[in-house]
Amino acid sequence: MKKIKKEIKPKRVYELERVGNARTVQLYADGFQSLTRKEKIFAYYMVRAAIAGRTIAIDQTNRYALQILNLCEEGLRNPRGIPAKTLKEIGEYTKLFWINNGMYDHNTARKFVPRCTPAEFEKCLRIAAGKKRGSLEYRTELVRTFRQLKRAIFDPSYMAVVTDKTPGHDFIAQSANNFYEGLTTAEVTRWATKGNEKNPLNSKVIKKNGKIEELVWRAGTDSIPEGMYASQLNDVISNLEKAKRYAASKHQAKTLDLLIRFFRTGKLSVWEKYNISWVKDSSNVDFILGFIEVYMDPRGQKAKFEAVIHFTNKEQTKLMRKLAANAQYFEKRAPWNDEFKKRNVKAPIANVVDVIVETGDAGPVSAIGINLPNEQNIRQRYGSKSVLLHNVVAAYKASEPNGLLEEFCFDQAEVRRAKKYGQTADDLHTGMHEVLGHASGKVSDKLKGDPADHLPGYYSTLEEARADLVALWNVFDPKLKELGMVDSDDVAKEMYDSYVRNVFLQLRRISTGYQLEEDHMKNRQMVVDYILRNSKAIDTVKRRGKTYFHVTDYNKMHDMVGRLLAEVMRIKAEGDLPAARSLVDTYGLMINTAWRDEVIKRIKKLNVSAYTGFVMPDLSPVYDKKGSIADIKVEYPLDLTKQMLEYSMAEE
Ligand SMILES: [Zn+2]
Repeated sequence: MKKIKKEIKPKRVYELERVGNARTVQLYADGFQSLTRKEKIFAYYMVRAAIAGRTIAIDQTNRYALQILNLCEEGLRNPRGIPAKTLKEIGEYTKLFWINNGMYDHNTARKFVPRCTPAEFEKCLRIAAGKKRGSLEYRTELVRTFRQLKRAIFDPSYMAVVTDKTPGHDFIAQSANNFYEGLTTAEVTRWATKGNEKNPLNSKVIKKNGKIEELVWRAGTDSIPEGMYASQLNDVISNLEKAKRYAASKHQAKTLDLLIRFFRTGKLSVWEKYNISWVKDSSNVDFILGFIEVYMDPRGQKAKFEAVIHFTNKEQTKLMRKLAANAQYFEKRAPWNDEFKKRNVKAPIANVVDVIVETGDAGPVSAIGINLPNEQNIRQRYGSKSVLLHNVVAAYKASEPNGLLEEFCFDQAEVRRAKKYGQTADDLHTGMHEVLGHASGKVSDKLKGDPADHLPGYYSTLEEARADLVALWNVFDPKLKELGMVDSDDVAKEMYDSYVRNVFLQLRRISTGYQLEEDHMKNRQMVVDYILRNSKAIDTVKRRGKTYFHVTDYNKMHDMVGRLLAEVMRIKAEGDLPAARSLVDTYGLMINTAWRDEVIKRIKKLNVSAYTGFVMPDLSPVYDKKGSIADIKVEYPLDLTKQMLEYSMAEE
C-alpha cells in the first residue's frame, strides 16, 4: 500500500500574548516574496528608516520616556540573576511601554506604572550592571539615573496624562508630552499669535532664561545648524539615501529627495513640496513617513513621528477598481430621488495595501485605513491618498477572541456565516463605503455652498451613515456576482448580521455616560435603531437573561435601508438641519445603559483585550558571493520582546 503523505500546513499563530489590558498579535506580509528584487531592497531600506526614527516618537511622548525605556531594556538584556518575579513585572511594564511608545495607555492617555517596587527595580539594575566590564562606574551611573527618574516611573499622579484636555485644566502645563516645557497655555498662545512660531508642525517650544524658544526637529545642513533629533534623523536620512537607489521611478526618487531635504532643513515649505510630490506617487511599494498626526498636542499643531511601509495588495485593489469602474451603474440604481443623482461619477481610487512595518505613532498599535495628507490646501488642490490596510484587518479578524461570535450571534447559522464570509463581507463593506459611498450623490441645485456648513454638528454622522447605507443597499445587487466579487447571498446576509450585532457590541466602549460621541458609532446606531423601531426587520430577543440583536427579514431590512438612505441623501442634498437633528438625536445619540452594562459584563467573561500591539514582519538581506544583496527574506518573530530589543540595538 502506498503511503499517503499528508501535507501538514502549520496553523498560523496570530494572538501571541496578553500584556496588561493589551495583547500582541503577529502581522503577516503575504505577497512580499512576490515583489521584485528591486522593490524588496527598496522596502528593506525604508523599513530601516522607519525603525531609525522610532525613538523620536517615544521621546515626544514624554521627556523622560527614552531614559526610562533604556533602564528597562538594560534589565531585560541582562536577565541572569534577577529574581523571576521582578523580571516578569519589569518585562510586562516594558512590553506595555513598547506597545504604547511610552508610559501612557493608548485608550485612556493616563500613565501606567510597574507592579514591582522601586527597591526591586533598583536591585534588578544593580544585578544587570554587575556583568559589564568596568561595572562599578557603570552601576553607579545607572543607579543615579534611576533615582532621578523614580518619580516619573512610579508616581501615577506625576505627569499623569499625556494630553490633558479636561475643562478647567491648563492644557499645555498639565499635559505630560514633550512638545512644550516650562510653559502655560496663556504664554504659548500669546507668543504664537504674535507670529513667533516658525515651525508649528515640527518643533518643541521651551522657556529658557525667561525667553520662549523653538527647538526645530532637523538634522541640519552646512548653513543650517542641527536641531533636536538630529542623530535619529541622520540615521533615517542615511537609509532613505540607500532606498533612493532602488526607487521605482524618477518621481519616487524625487519624492525621497524632498523628504530628505525636509528632515535636513526642517523647512515647512519643503514639507509642502514633498507632500505634493508624494500624493501623486502610486508606486507598488509606498510609504508614509514623517511628522504626521497632531492628536497628541492639545493645540493640534505639533506632529508625532510615524512610518508605515507598505505594498499594494493587487487582488484586493483590483476589486476596488472594479467597484470604481461600475460606480455609475450603482448610482443609477440608488434609492434616492433622481434629482440627487450624479451623471458622471468619479469614484476615488483607494489602494488596498499590506503593511510591512509600522513604527512611531503608527505602530505597534495600528489603524485600519489612512487618508493623507492632512494639509487641507494640498488636499483641495492635489487630492489625497487613501490606503486600506488589508493584512492588519485580516490579523484582527483571524485573532478575534474565541467565543465572541458564539456569545453574541443569535444562532449557529449566523456563527457559521460569520466564520465563512466575515472577511469577504468586511472587505466589501469597506470598499463600497469608501469607493461607492462617499463619492455618490449630488446636492440640490438650490443649495448654496457646502452641505457641511448647513449641517453643523450633524454632517459627519450623516455622511458616514450615507456611506454605510450605500454598502448595505448595494450588497444584494446581482452585479456583484456578475463581477465575481460575491458568490453567495450569505455574504450579504453576513454583512447585515454583523452590522446589526456590532451596534450592540460597540456599547462596550462607552463605559460611562449615556450618549455616543464618535461619528461612526453614532451613525451605526442610528441606522440599526431606525430600522428596529420602524419595522420588524430587526428584532431584539432575550434568552436566558442574554440579549441578542438579529435580522428577522433580510428583504425587509433591505427596503428599510433604501428608505433611510433616500432620506439621508435628501437631508444632505438640501442641507435640512431640522431633519438631520431629528434623525440623529432620535436614533443615534442616547444609548440604552442596561444593554451597555450587559455587554460589558458578557465581554468581561470572554477576556477581550482593550487594544492590540502588532509584532511586525522582520526583513533581512540575503547576500550573494560578491557581498551584494541578492534577496530580502521575510520572517515572523512571534515575539514582541525579541523584536523590540533588536530595534533598539539597530538604533545604537
Ligand atoms: Zn467614511
